[in-house]
Amino acid sequence: MVTLKFGVFLYKPEPVEGVDYNFYRIKPESGTVGEPNPKMYTNIACFGDNALAAKRPEWISVSKDGPAFRTNKRYNLRWDVLCMTNPEVREYNLNLIEKCAKETPGISISSQHFADHGFCVCPRCVEQWRQSGLNWTEWRATTVTEFLKEVRQRVGSKPLFVNLLPDPVLGKERFGYDYDALAEYADYFVIPMFSKAYPTPWYWEMLARAFKSKLKKPVFVNFYVRGPGETWETVAPTKQILTVATRAARTGIDGIIFLAEKADWIREFQKVAVQSKDVLAELEGYGGDEVLRLVHSWESLF
Ligand SMILES: [Zn+2]
Repeated sequence: MVTLKFGVFLYKPEPVEGVDYNFYRIKPESGTVGEPNPKMYTNIACFGDNALAAKRPEWISVSKDGPAFRTNKRYNLRWDVLCMTNPEVREYNLNLIEKCAKETPGISISSQHFADHGFCVCPRCVEQWRQSGLNWTEWRATTVTEFLKEVRQRVGSKPLFVNLLPDPVLGKERFGYDYDALAEYADYFVIPMFSKAYPTPWYWEMLARAFKSKLKKPVFVNFYVRGPGETWETVAPTKQILTVATRAARTGIDGIIFLAEKADWIREFQKVAVQSKDVLAELEGYGGDEVLRLVHSWESLF
């Protein structure tokens, strides 16, 4: 029987109990950089970097519909995205990855790809594409894979988790994902499934099943508990998160991660989950019992 792994994805370097993996977002897309915690895996957002984009706006990725700033309404950009062929940005991220790989149990990377379809048509990218002799889609995919290869070299033998934005159909055209090529360098894939509400688990379950069928390394999904700037009123109730996790668990995925700003919010989520006896009883029989066993294991924490 497959045993699911569980983790948390936190913006503060304090781990929680009751999960297999604690990830610390040492450099989220805001671009702020913390200190590595040897007890936590390290997550690094590479080319999504608001702080660096503010400091060096000329490094932004560009398209014919404008640059990859959050203010560009032609795209759904959650953060500012720098050009991924910029040698200074690459080296900056690779050095941080190497340092964290030495000091912490493993690495997770996000935003290690193109901003979206249409990016990047800066003079450097166009020149590199021309010299490659490849078509545009293949050049972009090769560029993303080559960056992951460099990341792999810096990470060495430590576990490497690679986050992929949740579009299983057009991931190559939009972000440059060649799933099979990436699987040569990744140990695990993580699919962020962030939402402030999960009233319809059907869609998330479908996405989990789709990615599990396509990806040739273990697949984790990541659900949103309470991110920075939220209150318990602005995020999904625990019942919805337990339900969507249980439904995703039955698709054959290998792990589930929960995002929160800090350990306190995860502990509160764990406590409410343990107390949700009626919800847990209702979720029996769905085929996602490992989530229910996880919640039962949290009883000893309180
Ligand atoms: Zn570029």
